[in-house]
Amino acid sequence: MKKRIVILGSGESGTGAALLAQYLGYDVFVSDKGAIKASFQTELNEVGIPWEENQHCLDKVLNANEIIKSPGIPEKSEVMKAVREKGINVIGEIEFGYRHAGKCQIVAITGSNGKTTTTELTYHLLNTAGLDVRKGGNVGNSFARMALEDLKTGSTKADQRIFVLEVSSFQLDDIQQFRPKIALLLNITPDHLDRYDYKLENYAASKFRVTMNQGRGDKFIYNGFDPILATHRVTSSHPVSKPKQIAIRKGFYKNGLIKVGKEVFGMSKSALRGPHNMFNAVCAIRVSLLLGAKPDKIQEGLNTFIPPPHRLEKVAETNGVIWINDSKATNVDSVFYALQAMDTPTVWIVGGQDKGNDYTPLLKLVKNKVKAIVCMGVDNSKIISVFGGMKKPLVETGSAQEAVKMAAGFAKKGDMVLLSPACASFDLFKNYEDRGEQFREAVLQLSILKHKETKGH
Ligand code: ADP
Repeated sequence: MKKRIVILGSGESGTGAALLAQYLGYDVFVSDKGAIKASFQTELNEVGIPWEENQHCLDKVLNANEIIKSPGIPEKSEVMKAVREKGINVIGEIEFGYRHAGKCQIVAITGSNGKTTTTELTYHLLNTAGLDVRKGGNVGNSFARMALEDLKTGSTKADQRIFVLEVSSFQLDDIQQFRPKIALLLNITPDHLDRYDYKLENYAASKFRVTMNQGRGDKFIYNGFDPILATHRVTSSHPVSKPKQIAIRKGFYKNGLIKVGKEVFGMSKSALRGPHNMFNAVCAIRVSLLLGAKPDKIQEGLNTFIPPPHRLEKVAETNGVIWINDSKATNVDSVFYALQAMDTPTVWIVGGQDKGNDYTPLLKLVKNKVKAIVCMGVDNSKIISVFGGMKKPLVETGSAQEAVKMAAGFAKKGDMVLLSPACASFDLFKNYEDRGEQFREAVLQLSILKHKETKGH
């Protein structure tokens, strides 16, 4: 009898896993407690994979030989409790992709902040250097989907293939054998603690799982000045033999130059801004050098990289005011770095769905860099209680359009307006992309108006 694989959750990772499992000849079933996106339904239907949505029929789930769980599904959910009770082996899509990816070199990038930027940059540097490289995981295509493409084209036998994978802590929770040649841990700051019994050490341990199966010949690159990471590094265990550990320490970036070993790279032509992005760049350069990219090609890649949207993205300049969309900043730490990157007086748009934030690390930066605060959320009381006493103008709004208008009222020539919310977006928007798009749209509308005004006078 065919082995039955049930996939819980059908987003990009679940669908990718289902398509790969079907291709490999398993008896596949997909079950999602929510609605399955039309495009994923079409993909499943095209190859005849049965699926259900808005429910988990336990009789169809619990007869699985193995479960592939999407990262969004918590262990505390009813379906997972039942699966655990039955003792069915549970893996994630990353593990499944790894089993079938064939010969390849994996770069796994994790951390609380900077994963997508660093994954995109690393890919771009390696690609510019002419190496055979793909990117995906927690961003873009799932690993399973990429492995399937390679199986179909027979490229799984080329051991020079490189996968640059963004991996989240939720994904790492469901790995078993996954062994990256290079693991990169950018930073650890409190986030998603609701999934980790509100214990930072559990969340940190989950991130360290990226090194769990690494051994001799592998590399573990980590942030050498991250205090949380440092305390956990010593407790991580490498059962086989240790990978080579490479700490990125401070002092790598000075006067617009990045130094990595003997190599020096100029950042003046790069679109990346802020010290945190210089750190991301050092990490990406390190990985690229380890994989054989030539320094001149790396420099070319740094010069031509277009950072992903919604991360300190300059959307416009109107009347000498620079507007920056950092909608992806959904926690306090990323706002810390965003504010640090601001070099002129800043109007700060903040707020949304609070995730139990402690805003105190921002107090000094807000005091020194922020000239006015626009709160954009359904409930702004916490932000008002923390920053309200600072004798800075503080206003409230419930829409991106109004927030932009209010910010425009405060900003003078030479100022910046920064949307960097520190919160999730779900109170007013579909997601952080929607928030960023609405902000961008409102800014562009405003700049068209301003342009007309100036022309009219
Ligand atoms: P992730 O994929 O981990 O969420 P992103 O690259 O999407 O990371 O960036 C998320 C947010 O974190 C953005 O606001 C970005 O400006 C900020 N950020 C990027 N890199 C870092 C870093 N190394 N340290 C802290 N914040 C960062």
